Amino acid sequence: MIGNEIFSLDSYDCIGFDLDNTLVQYVEFELVSFIYDLTAKYLIEHFDYNSDDILKPITYDIDFLRKGLTLDVERGNIVSLSEDGTVLRASHGFNFFTTDEIRQIYEPNGKWNLAAIHCDNFLQTWNGEWSNKIRSFLDYFDMCLPLLFARLINSIESRNETITSCDIWSHILQAVMHIYRNESFENESGEYYREVKKNPTKFLKKCSKSFLDWLQNLKLSGKITFVITGSRNDYANFIAEHGLCKEWNKFFDVIIYYAKKPGFFVKNRPFLFKNTKNIAQPLELKLNSSYEEGNWTDLRALFSKETGKSNPKCLYIGDNLIQDIYAPAKYHCCDTIAVVQELMLEYKYDELLDSKKWGTFFYDDEHQKNSIWGKIIASYSKICIPSVDWFIDQSLRKKYNQLK
Ligand SMILES: [Mg+2]
Repeated sequence: MIGNEIFSLDSYDCIGFDLDNTLVQYVEFELVSFIYDLTAKYLIEHFDYNSDDILKPITYDIDFLRKGLTLDVERGNIVSLSEDGTVLRASHGFNFFTTDEIRQIYEPNGKWNLAAIHCDNFLQTWNGEWSNKIRSFLDYFDMCLPLLFARLINSIESRNETITSCDIWSHILQAVMHIYRNESFENESGEYYREVKKNPTKFLKKCSKSFLDWLQNLKLSGKITFVITGSRNDYANFIAEHGLCKEWNKFFDVIIYYAKKPGFFVKNRPFLFKNTKNIAQPLELKLNSSYEEGNWTDLRALFSKETGKSNPKCLYIGDNLIQDIYAPAKYHCCDTIAVVQELMLEYKYDELLDSKKWGTFFYDDEHQKNSIWGKIIASYSKICIPSVDWFIDQSLRKKYNQLK
């Protein structure tokens, strides 16, 4: 997938970053395990699911976990998809289907029509009716959910209970919404925020001094640097202070909180800022400021004004392949770099990221087909790196061969 065109960080006027799992790295196993337990406990408490069946360590089924799995809500299946929406592997609970069974369940060629729509344009299934029928899990915040869903399917079917797979998914969504309630960080009402606040070193990795130097140099090199994060102001500042440093915002010219990606790149929501009393819309965007929500078009107009270029060259670096890579690149907002930790598996085994049951994140050896994620990376990112600190020993002028 390596092409002939050359990529270099130095050729960009503006370089931006996602925050969670990009600039700030979590202790992945602790995070995934903790979110699993919180969600399972909520379901047991509110919907009376069997605790013995679902409140088990994730390590018991660690090979079932992998990023990039997709949920077929109506059939109650977990699937892995190829680049055109063909179902490569599928399980109901922990029972994996054979290829023949997959062809009986889906189309004779293994195609699942809704998955083909999903893979053709992820934003079509992001909201609305289809979003209740298909969902892909792409980061450490949601990668435990297919495992929980499979355990719930096994649990209710072995007990001959009448809860449908759609009910199970709706219950999981209610649990997730409860765990990340927006007001929770400030008033510590949600267990997720309370625990991270109480014990940041358990969940957050501290970056190296060299990484902070690299960020500093990036800014000193004269580029406009920015952060676009989906997290709220208070939580984002908390994790960045622990994962980067106390004065982390000095490395960036603009910080956008609660950006509501992927909508940020394709919609026209206004920017908001907090003054002493309330939230208002800024008259104009400025550097050395932070905002909430907003949209790419207005941010780019600011970059254009500040660089004096009608078409400043912009780059965005992030880990979520739909929100950070697909949306900005597909809609011609900017170039992207995909941060994909699974690349590390070529050098070092990691039981959380690796899965024999599902095959690799990029490519299905058994079927000799690219996964949908392999295709997204190759089509929409300039290069793919295992983590942002991969850049620290390299000159900004270093040249890389682009993907494709
Ligand atoms: Mg992220």
